[in-house]
Amino acid sequence: MPSYVTEWSLTRRKMFCNCARRFTIKYLTDKYREFNKNHPAKRLSPWDLMILSTRQVFFQWLEDLHRNVIWSDKMLYSTIKLKIITNSHETDYQQKHGLNFDKKILISKGYARLKKLIRQPLLKKLARGGIKEWSYHERTKVVTFGHLDVYCSPDIVFRTGNKWNLVRLNFQSEIKQPYLDLELTTMLLWSKSNQYLPNLESKFNIYGIFYQQGKWHQKRVRPSKKGFQETKQLLENDVHQMNLLQKEFYRTKDIDAMPLTNSPSYCKRCPYKTNCPINA
Ligand code: SF4
Repeated sequence: MPSYVTEWSLTRRKMFCNCARRFTIKYLTDKYREFNKNHPAKRLSPWDLMILSTRQVFFQWLEDLHRNVIWSDKMLYSTIKLKIITNSHETDYQQKHGLNFDKKILISKGYARLKKLIRQPLLKKLARGGIKEWSYHERTKVVTFGHLDVYCSPDIVFRTGNKWNLVRLNFQSEIKQPYLDLELTTMLLWSKSNQYLPNLESKFNIYGIFYQQGKWHQKRVRPSKKGFQETKQLLENDVHQMNLLQKEFYRTKDIDAMPLTNSPSYCKRCPYKTNCPINA
């Protein structure tokens, strides 16, 4: 009998909502779960490889900025180039498709995306030293919420006056984000687990900075008790639905019986499209 699903992250939520088959392969089947764990980069499409590399370079940029080391455009370009080349050696797309042509496009897309990001008002202010008290966080630390393990830390936290600001970046967002406010409010759960931060919703601002259709956008959410309550319900409901899917999968033991995406464009970047019934 498989153990219950207890983990929640935004990546899992997005995949679950978009395609049950893809979610099942990635998170619910032991065969693939082991494979994905041992070969994390191998299941990436070139586009996802660019997004992953861009995010990694952004954190290198942030790390240096925190030490007052400012990057030139040349440094930004060469770092993204190196990261994409290095990461591409880790993916089986290199062998399958030959990335020589793609790599140039990926590097230029990644560079443009980063350049636009660091021109965002909030990050510009950070880069120019306009915000004194700030920190950055990788989303690898888990927060325990009841019986759930939740990955919900902000990417950047900064303080202005008596307010704490929690910022999450999304390097490739969907066009429709019906639960964006609640998804962003999950960062409040992270703040509750941090003893140095206040325990009052009104002491926080929440920001989402996301890339969509060639542009970065910024969304601000004013947290409330009610919103926080709804966010916790969202997490519980998501994990409940994931467990129902797992139950169904173990009943049928058939990956291809799992529901497929309603949006064929979602398949473009799917690493599991070979043999998928959607192509039948
Ligand atoms: S190819 Fe499309 S339908 Fe098939 S698993 Fe991937 S996202 Fe789902």
